[in-house]
Amino acid sequence: MTGHEVDVVVVGAGFAGLRALHTLRGAGLRVAVLESGDGVGGVWRWNRYPGARCDIESYDYSYGFSDDLEQEWRWSERYATQPEILRYVEHVADRFDLHRDVHLHRRVVAADWDDDGARWTARTEDGDTWAGRFLIMAVGNLSTTKRPAFPGEDAFGGEILHTAEWPTTPVAFAGRRVGVVGTGSSGIQSIPVISREAEHVTVFQRTPAFSVPARHAPVSDEQDAAIKADYAARRARAASSPSGLGFVPNRRSALDDTPEERDAVFERAWDGDGFGFVLAYHDLLLDQAANDTAADFCRAKISAIVEDPGTREKLLPTDYPMGAKRPCVDSGYYETFNRENVALVDVRADPIERLTATGLRTASGDHDLDVLVLATGFDAITGSLLKPTITGRDGVTLAEAWRDGPVTYLGLGVAGFPNLFAITGPGSPALLANVLLGIEQHVDWIAGLLTRMRDEGHAVVEADRDAQERWTAHLLERADETLYPKARSYYMGDEVEGKPRVFMLYPGGIRQYRRIIERVAADGYEGFHLGGAAA
Ligand code: NAP
Repeated sequence: MTGHEVDVVVVGAGFAGLRALHTLRGAGLRVAVLESGDGVGGVWRWNRYPGARCDIESYDYSYGFSDDLEQEWRWSERYATQPEILRYVEHVADRFDLHRDVHLHRRVVAADWDDDGARWTARTEDGDTWAGRFLIMAVGNLSTTKRPAFPGEDAFGGEILHTAEWPTTPVAFAGRRVGVVGTGSSGIQSIPVISREAEHVTVFQRTPAFSVPARHAPVSDEQDAAIKADYAARRARAASSPSGLGFVPNRRSALDDTPEERDAVFERAWDGDGFGFVLAYHDLLLDQAANDTAADFCRAKISAIVEDPGTREKLLPTDYPMGAKRPCVDSGYYETFNRENVALVDVRADPIERLTATGLRTASGDHDLDVLVLATGFDAITGSLLKPTITGRDGVTLAEAWRDGPVTYLGLGVAGFPNLFAITGPGSPALLANVLLGIEQHVDWIAGLLTRMRDEGHAVVEADRDAQERWTAHLLERADETLYPKARSYYMGDEVEGKPRVFMLYPGGIRQYRRIIERVAADGYEGFHLGGAAA
């Protein structure tokens, strides 16, 4: 067993962990990043499935901390593919000399707070220990794979793949019969690509998604030059918009417009805004009647695309508000169901019973398959935070503290867990906004706090329990003003059986959130206790 000593232990070498390393190293701190995988990039390393892309435009889903980086990197498409994003992260790690402090194949299994020494000790699977005054969990919101256990898995003679743990070697689909379980973003992106190659694809759908067209396009040299000439303004627009994507909120209610006016607004959004469709009116996620207008518009679009009446009917989402589950962005998803080699099974009406030697059995009969693709998502938001056993003050674990759902102060700190920070943790906007912006906001805020602690000689910072309760109550109140709780979604913990059902993110927008955390910092980190003499 070997012991290492640093100032800050960071868990995870995705976008968040690398940004934390770069910034905290720049502030003069010794940082070690522990990463379970064989390289940097986090989810963008694992999710290599066919068709994987980001739903946020490349120029916004990228780091904003370095003008030189912004200027020298050339995105090739409006929405970057997974390989391009991975190349970008690897470039960043090379360019800023980050690799030397990233320790690969180091899965953190436990972390313990030592009150006397005022430090954390993280333990990796291979028995190494890494001690540091601060522990930063940069583990991502969608990084613990959810893999349903279907009976008969061992008997299945074909191959089982999960979109979030895709093999590094190419998977050939030609001449094979493929089943895909799941129609969230990963399913919706991969199904059209797989079906162009496979002999046959059967899609097993539980909840139909609302998906809007991506309108992918290559980025021309002129577009690239225009964006780079004014990149700072683009970043500023993103940071001052509620979504972090730069969309100017439409102040009107969907109900203020006539049906014709509304259709024109929705049509424009459908044709170019991608994910921003849900922001076409300010109240689409606040008011059921307003939401119905958007949902009706989407259903009409789906109906116009899908030719077979039975398939069309199954693809129409009807039992939750549009956008209350994370909407998807697609390239020809609905059109895929007009292909001869694609079939749709509604597993609510025709439930999956088991895997057999030759395929998947649903209540109505057997579906012969050579490959089963699980696009079944993640134990979201809290999954990767709770995977290691994190033990704070008085031997209380994070899992115990969060038994009824995650409680944090500002999504950054947790009472009883001094010197622990989560980047884009529960209680922050995280997945409800441009997560890259959220990461940079959090890292800069944490760096400001750590620098101040060093300057003032403090060793320990801890969220105040009352401040945490107030924050948690505040975000639940804000969530109750929205339509989010009306859907069964991973925002609410519905994706994993037995998870507490509670809204886990800050729904007030990333602009408002930034104002709040900046004010907290300006007020001397109000709601945090700073103390303990630094050794
Ligand atoms: P997801 O959105 O959670 O979708 C999982 C799908 O699997 C759902 O359709 C779910 O149905 C279904 N499912 C789960 N367990 C099942 C079971 N036992 N039987 C049948 N169906 C089952 O996961 P995801 O598609 O991987 O996407 C997760 C998130 O990752 C996205 O929302 C997005 O935030 C992010 N992501 C982003 C991109 C991008 O930027 N382009 C791409 C991929 C993913 P129910 O809905 O009924 O639970």
